[in-house]
Amino acid sequence: MKIVSTIEEVRAQVRAWKTEGNTIGFVPTMGYLHEGHLSLIDAAGENDHVVVSIFVNPMQFGPNEDLASYPRDLERDAALCKKHNVDLIFHPTPEEMYGESFYSYVDMDVLTKELCGLSRPVHFRGVCTVVAKLFNIVLPDKAYFGQKDAQQLAIIKRMVKDLNMPLTVTGCPIVREKDGLAKSSRNTYLSPEERKAALVLSRSVFLGKAMAEQGETNAEKIKEAMTAEIKSEPLARIDYVKIVDLKTMQQVKTIQGGVLAAIAVYIGKTRLIDNFMTDENEGK
Ligand code: AMP
Repeated sequence: MKIVSTIEEVRAQVRAWKTEGNTIGFVPTMGYLHEGHLSLIDAAGENDHVVVSIFVNPMQFGPNEDLASYPRDLERDAALCKKHNVDLIFHPTPEEMYGESFYSYVDMDVLTKELCGLSRPVHFRGVCTVVAKLFNIVLPDKAYFGQKDAQQLAIIKRMVKDLNMPLTVTGCPIVREKDGLAKSSRNTYLSPEERKAALVLSRSVFLGKAMAEQGETNAEKIKEAMTAEIKSEPLARIDYVKIVDLKTMQQVKTIQGGVLAAIAVYIGKTRLIDNFMTDENEGK
């Protein structure tokens, strides 16, 4: 396994692989890897070679967000990648990615204006721009994203379609802790008391999912039950609880077809997200 930090080094390796006719699977991450990331890396193993990027992208953080405190541990990440048969880690500096000045952005309408886009107004512009750049650098045949970030997955799929990017995007299921909490690098921010309180997210998601599975089609009723569950936890503060069409991110009244129920909740200062889809195949 190689670890490189320059775009030129990635390009040289990719050129060599492509010359041999080999396929490339790509997993973009911000590092501090956990089993969620590793499930994407394992899925990418269906390609001849696997590339993982580890880059805490400043462009997708708002001014009062956790860019400085975001957990980082390249040595640990590299050991995990090696164990999971990664061929190349791309670990650039912000200077390598953005140079001294930077003027070009990928800005998406509609899908980025809802859910997390409302509380994190610059977030998806940063995500789309960095992912487009990474796709241009790595030239993957397939890229893998988690359903944990369901809105991000929908946005990346849409970007690839709208801009005719020559790759396929695969969505992978949410990986959870044994007690239900969705795995996240940000879970490390939680105190022991907050860690317990954070279970309210998965409880709310499982409750909503069970209602939908039992045939409840009234989105408002499911939303109310999920909201009440979260409100029962004193350390939790709701950012949003919404049920939206998976393709448009617009709220729906009735559950039918591919629907996403998504929540964002502050536990103390830590903002966590979780979701369920009524048809997980739609999110793949
Ligand atoms: P991040 O490092 O948080 O930017 O995440 C990198 C990729 O891992 C994204 O596609 C995430 O959706 C995915 N991911 C993060 N947590 C999980 C999880 N618990 N289950 C599945 N995928 C995840």
